[in-house]
Amino acid sequence: MRLSHVIAALEALYPPAWAESWDAVGLVCGDPDQEVGRVLLAVDPVTAVVDEALEWGADLLITHHPLLLRPVNGVPATTPKGRLVHRLIRGGTALYTAHTNADVADPGVSDALARAVGVTGPLRPLAPSPDDPRRGLGRIGDLPEAVTLKEFTAQVAAGLPATAWGVRAAGDPDRMVRSVAVCGGSGDSLLETARTSGADVYLTADLRHHPASEYLERPGPALLDAAHWATEHPWLADAERALRAALPAAEPLQTRVSTLVTDAWRLHHEGVK
Ligand SMILES: [Zn+2]
Repeated sequence: MRLSHVIAALEALYPPAWAESWDAVGLVCGDPDQEVGRVLLAVDPVTAVVDEALEWGADLLITHHPLLLRPVNGVPATTPKGRLVHRLIRGGTALYTAHTNADVADPGVSDALARAVGVTGPLRPLAPSPDDPRRGLGRIGDLPEAVTLKEFTAQVAAGLPATAWGVRAAGDPDRMVRSVAVCGGSGDSLLETARTSGADVYLTADLRHHPASEYLERPGPALLDAAHWATEHPWLADAERALRAALPAAEPLQTRVSTLVTDAWRLHHEGVK
């Protein structure tokens, strides 16, 4: 199958026009006329993932995070990112990014996160897109029954891929939670939206000390902070399924979701008590 056909399917699922203005989505390298048989999906376009793509013989690597978010004047192999571009082109592996356009899609990154942690009820965007309330950032929905924050923290840890970071909770461990707001990736911009949403708990990544500490001084949801990579990884299986369903069955692609843990943090120690 031509790469251009796969891209057309991806862009129907995650239209580039839905991406934020600061984002860089779409084809990073590769020839739309090249043939694609094997597709690898991953969160981060880092060396370990490119190694995996080349070793497996992937013709296309789809990542959530952009390799080249900021404009560059060149891609010399003397820079880490330039080196990856060289290796991908030499290996005949195209690179394609679906980032904030996948965040706001329906279903998108936060739908997969909500389902992974056990939200079974209907989901709606936490911050709906102005042009379509079915799309937007974050999701909110209900657990089948209320559980304590402590139980839900364990449930989130079990539902997401394991990382050194794990899952941290802020708030009363015995508090009952049922309505769950989530945002895959760095969701601190939605803290106040989560507060007014009526959610009992807000799950996201990259929460910092002061915003979290000040947040808890006022009534609102408890906070759960998981590894950035782990909150976005569940989307890959959804994207894989949606892509396969969108392409003709007569020309089956081999697809694979990378299980390499590419969260930046590798070690965790609670300290000596
Ligand atoms: Zn992210």
